[in-house]
Amino acid sequence: MASEAADQRGNNDHLVESNDPDHPANLIPSLCAKFWTLGWVTGTGGGCSIREEDLVYIAPSGVQKELMKPADIYVLSLPHQVPSTPRTYIRSPPAFKPSQCTPLFLAAFTRRGAGCCIHTHSQWAVLVTLLLESAPATESRRVFEINNIEQIKGFGKGPGKVGNLGYHDTLRIPVIENTAHEEDLTEFLEDAMDEFPDAYAVLVRRHGVYVWGDNVHKAKTMCESLDYLFRLAVEMRQLGIPWISDIPVVQPRRKAVEQ
Ligand SMILES: [Zn+2]
Repeated sequence: MASEAADQRGNNDHLVESNDPDHPANLIPSLCAKFWTLGWVTGTGGGCSIREEDLVYIAPSGVQKELMKPADIYVLSLPHQVPSTPRTYIRSPPAFKPSQCTPLFLAAFTRRGAGCCIHTHSQWAVLVTLLLESAPATESRRVFEINNIEQIKGFGKGPGKVGNLGYHDTLRIPVIENTAHEEDLTEFLEDAMDEFPDAYAVLVRRHGVYVWGDNVHKAKTMCESLDYLFRLAVEMRQLGIPWISDIPVVQPRRKAVEQ
């Protein structure tokens, strides 16, 4: 239906044709090919979407992410989406179907003003949600928390806030329960965004993670930092090391002397 409507308007294939490697229609396939090598988008799962002004570029459903081409990309106009009505695409690929991740990506763009949203099925993300699921009833199973790890500095303090988290700060990532159909996650993702206004990611239990940022660079680096922290967290748990620690702050002697 979406592709028929787009065909009647000429399908706007020019929107996905560019020699610029940083054009969203070229960047999504090249990023997904890299993510595939990391095990983030195995077996057509996961995906990536980029917003440029009012235009949103989205990987399709069911495509092998490492083989995706610019011609496979959907494009929609953000201001022209009407709530509670079928989404309309201004450019559709000849094959494939729209991704079920689409409303979740749109939530990151409309609610957070994000420029890029990445969804992975990383095993480390899934394992963290499983560890939280089996936590004692006295502990929260709905939020992943970790502090005193250098890689935490890769995260901004929150939308509209200046600077990144510090080494001693606590990074908090909410966890929502999985649903039978991916698009049904949307309302729970939006609730988590409201409850954790500073979060740049939401974990989905037994499924994966959604990560967004102001632009592709920020979304990608936070996604990488998160995967590092998820893997570290799983291995810390195996070694009996807690994710939250209370360690002394080390004062730099040299800096104090120079001042
Ligand atoms: Zn998924």
